[in-house]
Amino acid sequence: MNAFPAGEVWLVGAGPGDAGLLTLHAVEALKAADVVVHDALVSADVLAYAAGAELVLLGKRGGKPSPKQSEINARLVAEAKAGKRVVRLKGGDPFVFGRGAEEVLALVAADVKFRVIPGITAGIGGLAYAGIPVTARDFNSSVIFLTGHDQTGLAPEGIDWAAVGKAAGMIVLYMAMRHMGEIADKLIAGGLAADTPVAVVMNASLPEMRVLDTTLARAAADIAASGMGAPAIVSIGRGNALREQMAWR
Ligand code: SAH
Repeated sequence: MNAFPAGEVWLVGAGPGDAGLLTLHAVEALKAADVVVHDALVSADVLAYAAGAELVLLGKRGGKPSPKQSEINARLVAEAKAGKRVVRLKGGDPFVFGRGAEEVLALVAADVKFRVIPGITAGIGGLAYAGIPVTARDFNSSVIFLTGHDQTGLAPEGIDWAAVGKAAGMIVLYMAMRHMGEIADKLIAGGLAADTPVAVVMNASLPEMRVLDTTLARAAADIAASGMGAPAIVSIGRGNALREQMAWR
């Protein structure tokens, strides 16, 4: 394993929640850290590996009051300059819809040494827990990852939804629960079949995981009726049908 020098920030992926999905590098980093600055998605089982560290919850939470990204960046830099071993721990993979790039650029600008430890992203590993393969021969040979809202919290602007529907056999949406109706309408208007299978996987990999099977046309109403909410991954595509045989959990 690698030594964790004082004064560095390691950006670590925590995976979707099941602590068994941490990498060996992530566990070593958590054990060696003086301070762990984590986001709201990191599970208690994962944080248990950082028993010797100070835990600081600092993360953006969709729709809820949350710290400014500049404050998070400044805290990481300050902790490193104070000579601490700093883990910046993010749910899933730090570079998948996690603002990891912004944080690394802030470290670069402040001349703080860093390292990146990738994690298992919810849109791949989380779906696997629901028996959904993001690629499968005969179903989908390409996959597209999209965020369901932009920085303002609205459904993302500037996306060519017709092109998205044609480009990939599997569309994986992060942070999409609030705008699912709007997104589904746009995909259907763009030519995707209204009965395209949709799976909604909430709390993927955790004991409280829930999965909803629906279709593009029914997704928003079924989500509302189910009472499901964030964090959830939405997958759209014929490959979802494999769940019938492949759901192992
Ligand atoms: N970096 C993270 C994504 C952060 S954005 C990753 O790679 O997974 C936050 C979104 O991730 C949530 O709104 C949800 O769409 C998804 N997500 C993260 N953890 C999840 C989980 N355990 N179950 C379902 N969705 C999850």
